[in-house]
Amino acid sequence: MSGADARVLGAGRHTSAAAGAGLQVRGLSVAVRGRSIVDEASWSAPAGAITALVGPNGAGKSTMLRAIAGVLPERAERSGSVLLGGERLDTMPARRRARRIALVEQLADAVPQLTAREAVRLGRTPHHRMLGFSLGDDAVVERALEDAGAAPLAERRLAELSGGELQRVHIARALAQQAGADEGGALLLDEPTNHLDVAWQLDLLELVRRIAADRPVVLTVHDLALAATHADRVVLVDGGRVIAEGGADAVLTSDRIRSVYGVEASIDADADGVAIRYRRLDTGGGA
Ligand code: ADP
Ligand code: MG
Repeated sequence: MSGADARVLGAGRHTSAAAGAGLQVRGLSVAVRGRSIVDEASWSAPAGAITALVGPNGAGKSTMLRAIAGVLPERAERSGSVLLGGERLDTMPARRRARRIALVEQLADAVPQLTAREAVRLGRTPHHRMLGFSLGDDAVVERALEDAGAAPLAERRLAELSGGELQRVHIARALAQQAGADEGGALLLDEPTNHLDVAWQLDLLELVRRIAADRPVVLTVHDLALAATHADRVVLVDGGRVIAEGGADAVLTSDRIRSVYGVEASIDADADGVAIRYRRLDTGGGA
């Protein structure tokens, strides 16, 4: 099955009403010192859905998310456009863009001495005209802590938190960053389930599902079965290019997994989700 088929198959799963408020990446390219990292990538993430960005290490997933959020390093050259709800994000002033789109990076900066509440308060920075707080910030911060299930952690220092707790605080910060924006926001999460045990992973995915109710959420994840089970759409990238996009069943075929990852995969889907078993390609020679 070709990438084009997957695009078509995936398209019907979420309605165009949601797509209007969604995130659209068009012809996005990123190069650093002449080396192409993202190459003419086009894909979309509808509002009301979880979109999983998957692909091997070095495929360009994190770079794509940074380019979309507008936080690439200075020396990176970017071209193409990013739209949210039909509006160009890539030409928007940075502070305004920060209110529309939030990125939780894989190794998000965490000043260890800060309490969770203080860290979440930092998310309000793009809303401030000058240093200091706006009226209503406290309520927004408490609400974000609550919504991310991080309220019980408010007084704890980041240094004392587990990976799963820290991830919630970062998500709360992202929610606070967007709260009160005039139009809907988009949330990008880079490997949010990394290093979390299975119970925390499921908790986090439940949280992400709630957040995705009214906005596009994009997450990168290495676990293809997890992506297939929990995401509404999957975008498979390799070498900076989009290989396929659509529903997991259309995108994550054993053929594609073989060609992108170089492993044999047997995929079992049932009502509880998708399980994938992998084994090395039979090289025939027994190396
Ligand atoms: P992924 O998140 O899919 O693992 P990345 O986006 O982190 O991939 O990286 C894609 C490629 O771009 C890798 O080869 C990486 O070494 C390179 N790269 C990432 N960030 C930079 C940077 N700031 N400068 C130079 N090369 C980078
Ligand atoms: Mg990455």
